[in-house]
Amino acid sequence: MIQVKNPDQIKAMRVAGRITGEAILVAQEMIREGVTTKQIDDRIRQYIEKCGAKPSFLGYAGFPGSACISINDEVIHGIPSAKRYLHEGDIVKIDVGAYIGGFHGDSANTFGVGKISDDAQRLIDVTRQSFEMAIRALEVPNARIGDIGNAIQTHVEKNGYSVVRQYIGHGVGHELHEQPDVPNFGIAGRGLRLTKGMTIAIEPMVNAGAYQVRQCADGWTVVTADGSLSAHYEHSVALTEEGPILLTKV
Ligand code: MG
Ligand code: MG
Repeated sequence: MIQVKNPDQIKAMRVAGRITGEAILVAQEMIREGVTTKQIDDRIRQYIEKCGAKPSFLGYAGFPGSACISINDEVIHGIPSAKRYLHEGDIVKIDVGAYIGGFHGDSANTFGVGKISDDAQRLIDVTRQSFEMAIRALEVPNARIGDIGNAIQTHVEKNGYSVVRQYIGHGVGHELHEQPDVPNFGIAGRGLRLTKGMTIAIEPMVNAGAYQVRQCADGWTVVTADGSLSAHYEHSVALTEEGPILLTKV
């Protein structure tokens, strides 16, 4: 069931969203060669707790970290580790959620470590742009779920990349993952009609190579099947009278 939020609930989601977005910034400031993903995760947890919130991911289905931190060919769900160091030229995906006032925020971004290749930068840029295309599609009245996925997929494939199929965006609110499903691929004009009060996490996962992914033996980390680089960009978005609002953008 889709839980439509009233304006007060969306206001509360803005608080969770702001803390989530700030936690991403806290992580971004730490990114440099030699830092471990555990150090970044610890800071994220400290920041979220200092704000009076809880890290949404910590303990979620048994996940051991406060953030998912995924490097290079790792697509999503990387487990923070004291043995995992960032290296010059890596691209690192930070995915964070914060829970406060009964609501979750959910956001992710991809950052370069030091100097990265032009190809890696282009992948990051196209991924973010595909999200922006999805937002533009939402500004059209009576948009449908398929318009989001179609906007993302069209931009990504035009640039020679592929959209991950196996993992998708989702509703967000009282629960970290709610209805509806929000695929990053699809047919324009198809699917659920989007209405005011819906809150969804739009999160293109874009591979430089083929779209296939596989899960690692740790039971969490998802990597590209062909070993190509992958980028991720996500915001929690509220659909309102005034159009889409990016709840996790700070
Ligand atoms: Mg996320
Ligand atoms: Mg999400």
